[in-house]
Amino acid sequence: MSLMDTLKRWFGGQGATPSTTPQQGRDRPEPPAATSSAAATTQGATTMSDIRIHPAVDSGVRAGSDSFDGGTLHCHCSDKPVEVTVKAQCAHNHVCGCTKCWKPEGALFSMVAVVPRDSLSVTANEDKLEVVDPSAAIQRHACKECGVHMFGRIENTDHPFHGLDFIHTELSDDTGWAAPEFAAFVSSIIESGANPDNMDKVRGRLKELGLEPYDCLSPPLMDAIAIHTAKAKGVL
Ligand SMILES: [Zn+2]
Ligand SMILES: [Zn+2]
Repeated sequence: MSLMDTLKRWFGGQGATPSTTPQQGRDRPEPPAATSSAAATTQGATTMSDIRIHPAVDSGVRAGSDSFDGGTLHCHCSDKPVEVTVKAQCAHNHVCGCTKCWKPEGALFSMVAVVPRDSLSVTANEDKLEVVDPSAAIQRHACKECGVHMFGRIENTDHPFHGLDFIHTELSDDTGWAAPEFAAFVSSIIESGANPDNMDKVRGRLKELGLEPYDCLSPPLMDAIAIHTAKAKGVL
């Protein structure tokens, strides 16, 4: 099994580590006007601005708030929505191109972040939740009616990211959640049917938005996985 297969199997393109400080509330530069990339974006039917990364970032990434300390998430059901309460700011928010994360209709990427497991609780209509794939490392608890994933939890205590739950902050009406910082598993959008010919434009758009594209996780998260593995082997 290749490293990428292993990563995808284990993480589904998500994760976080306590060894780095989330860059909360960081000011993001405005997306630059198309300059050197202008020629490339005007060729063909799809231009860079046609690329729908995710509704939460398509009109620019909004900075989070340093004083934000949590909120509530709701599924898409109009009747008896599942409610999850998180008593913490999120970390390592990012857009993810893997095929496992829940994403809204029409988006190429999901947006996913982590919070400490003990900061998260289901506060309404928990009976509507079920685990999407019980054999997956990340147990994604989804609403049986609307299909929205409310949180992902790792039960394997040997997993590098055990203790962190995965959430989609777009499910919250509260503002101030830490902004997405990068794009993970970008190449994997092709596995969901994205046109391979548009990958330059997708990566270009991500860079324009300040979301550095990676085809695995970000360097701090890849380091965290390697550190965990090295410690398990006794070489660190
Ligand atoms: Zn993912
Ligand atoms: Zn629902």
